[in-house]
Amino acid sequence: MSCSILGIQIDENGRCAHYATALDIVAIKFKCCNRYFACHACHEAVASHPAERWEEEEFDCKAILCGQCKEEMTIRQYFSCNSKCLNCKAPFNPKCKAHWNLYLNL
Ligand SMILES: [Zn+2]
Ligand SMILES: [Zn+2]
Ligand SMILES: [Zn+2]
Repeated sequence: MSCSILGIQIDENGRCAHYATALDIVAIKFKCCNRYFACHACHEAVASHPAERWEEEEFDCKAILCGQCKEEMTIRQYFSCNSKCLNCKAPFNPKCKAHWNLYLNL
């Protein structure tokens, strides 16, 4: 698999020990290590370095992964996806928006 998702208790759709509802299937790539993690707490638990956030000029990078179809999208595409995958239409958790500042320097 080209885009494996790292973290704690990752299931086949990218849920983790911290975010495990039906909608919690979005993974994000961390630029500090160029790997996908299920969430910020997974990065903190597994990576041995502090997380780096994406800067606005990097929002066209493909850094978001749908855990259902494994399609990557850019951060900007994720902003406008209306909480569902642009490829497979799987619904994403709209509450993720409350945590964007952990991943993105907005
Ligand atoms: Zn990292
Ligand atoms: Zn997690
Ligand atoms: Zn998808």
